[in-house]
Amino acid sequence: MSVDFFYPEYEIVRDQNRCISCRVCERQCANCVHAFDEASGKMYADDSKCVNCHRCVSLCPTRALKIVKSGNTFKTNSNWTNDYMKEIYRQANSGGVLLSSMGNPADFPVYWDKILINASQVTNPSIDPLREPMETRTFLGKKPAKIERDCDGNIITKMEPNLELALPVLFGGMSYGAISYNAHASLAQAAKACGTFYNTGEGGLHKDFYQYGANTIVQVASGRFGVYKDYLNAGAAIEIKIGQGAKPGIGGHLPGLKIVGDISQTRMIPQGTDAISPAPHHDIYSIEDLHQLVYSLKEATDYQKPIIVKIAAVHNVAAIASGVARSGADIIAIDGFRGGTGAAPTRIRDNVGIPIELALASVDQRLRDEGIRGNISVICGGSIRNSTDVVKAIALGADAVYIATAALLAMGCHLCRSCHTGNCNWGIATQKPELVKRLNPEIATQRLINLLNAWEHEITEIMGGMGINSIEALRGNRLMLRGIGLTEKELEILGIKHAGE
Ligand code: SF4
Ligand code: SF4
Repeated sequence: MSVDFFYPEYEIVRDQNRCISCRVCERQCANCVHAFDEASGKMYADDSKCVNCHRCVSLCPTRALKIVKSGNTFKTNSNWTNDYMKEIYRQANSGGVLLSSMGNPADFPVYWDKILINASQVTNPSIDPLREPMETRTFLGKKPAKIERDCDGNIITKMEPNLELALPVLFGGMSYGAISYNAHASLAQAAKACGTFYNTGEGGLHKDFYQYGANTIVQVASGRFGVYKDYLNAGAAIEIKIGQGAKPGIGGHLPGLKIVGDISQTRMIPQGTDAISPAPHHDIYSIEDLHQLVYSLKEATDYQKPIIVKIAAVHNVAAIASGVARSGADIIAIDGFRGGTGAAPTRIRDNVGIPIELALASVDQRLRDEGIRGNISVICGGSIRNSTDVVKAIALGADAVYIATAALLAMGCHLCRSCHTGNCNWGIATQKPELVKRLNPEIATQRLINLLNAWEHEITEIMGGMGINSIEALRGNRLMLRGIGLTEKELEILGIKHAGE
């Protein structure tokens, strides 16, 4: 017999003086929280189903609703917290692995918030970005050790294929299947408008989005879903996904009930089949094997496209990055342990991997120490939340950053962390047609463009304040950073001084 020991996590507070029983909340909630009681003529709510996505709160015409954290609590202590107790009850009921969405929410240090940025005073004066040119263009890919020219001044050095970005921010991989058609359409259109790139994730490329190929990164993951020659040639770059920050060391699983219609066609698997990505690529067990895949993909695309290798930030990430740089890859993407996901086992998401700040600093240092930094560009991701995180990441050594959760938020996500249920009330992490329609791609595209434009303004302003006028001059410029409240060891790994030094 299963016993439900749970208290609802949230309570719906409805101001009956304001409520006009219009039933908007009932229609808008895919979790069936709200219902109308004909007898009393009033609305009531089943708190236990609420995920706190705020759809009803946002659309209630009379502002009658409020969602509050439930005051009910178990008899907890600092060892057995409310969450740990609930998880035991849940597993005792289901016998299953705990699943979660989005990034690691645990209380580990956020190093971005312990790093401060420099500003020029008196000497090396600051630059006014409104009156002086600022260069935010970034090129990702191998850089030649030196540039040679012929007697007419033309460059004769063979240049490797590079991605050109108008600003050092790309949209990270999110598959069609994990997010909706309208969400993908919005990312693709915004990437094109802003001169940057979005990433297919491991779900293949929907035929409607081939038109955005010049702004698309196509992914090759362990399941190889939707991968064939035209797909590889459709994008501007190819990303081999080895690992992901939210779930390092394990594969992925999109349940068969989500493999419907276009998603099954795009992934090139039958409808209703579970899409299971194995934990490893079954043809990669060494850097030599990785080298073979990198060059197979280059061969398939006539050596015209940079190859990205994406790995999760784990303990020995610097040594792994050194191997990746020697595999022939053009770009390495490192995903920190706060990176988001459509679904991951909770225990893995919250306990495996390391913060992106430490991983990034150690990778950049290792590549410099080995004299191979120019052989590969570095993209970092895993909870980049604002323009200062971007500036700090670049000063720590990144060439550019991936944003994904921030992009979802811009489209309307309220971080309810229930993407794995497929019931996203905001039309983003769902395939249900009636929910997908809730995301208007034109509005979502404009909101993404607004976000990137706003960040670009802020980045140029912060750079100007430092007396720096190009992303290139900021990259790896750790003298511009100071730590606060960090240990000697943390400062050493980050390669920065303490504030006041
Ligand atoms: S949306 Fe607001 S006004 Fe309408 S029924 Fe729900 S709580 Fe009442
Ligand atoms: S994408 Fe949707 S389901 Fe996922 S966290 Fe955001 S609002 Fe919730």
